Amino acid sequence: MDWKLLGILAATGIIIDAQRRKARPYHPPVGTIRILREYGGTRRRGDSDDRFHSAIDFELPIGTNVYAAADGIVLSITIPTGTYRSRGARKGYGRFIDVQHDDGLITRYAHMNDFSVGVGERVGRGQVIGHSGETGHVSRRPRLHFEVREPNGTTHDPRKFIRW
Ligand SMILES: [Zn+2]
Repeated sequence: MDWKLLGILAATGIIIDAQRRKARPYHPPVGTIRILREYGGTRRRGDSDDRFHSAIDFELPIGTNVYAAADGIVLSITIPTGTYRSRGARKGYGRFIDVQHDDGLITRYAHMNDFSVGVGERVGRGQVIGHSGETGHVSRRPRLHFEVREPNGTTHDPRKFIRW
């Protein structure tokens, strides 16, 4: 390959994306795939909210196993204050967990009920990291909100990473 072209591709991030695609694809975060809401602006049944959506939402009963998408380290676990159904706890992500993978990307699993791992713990691809719930803003149906993030907070369509 032409080195000048390689430089241009690297500068635009195309090389980095290509390298990521070569990496092992992500394990689906849930066993049964029922999508409530896609990444982006697409509205789905059960949702009245048409703001940009930074994740894929999977519909699933409370207490369903949630799996780590890839090997990594538990970066953080966030449990908002307030009781489970109090107003304060019904906003945003609810209870969520961030896992940082070896490629630097972070996966976020939100509206969780409980967690099976601790902060700083090493987790393996497909390992149960907790159970789904309906904490935070879930607009009626229990769900898992699954996000793929850069450390700077930029999100990507999880569909590009998961092997279904
Ligand atoms: Zn969501």
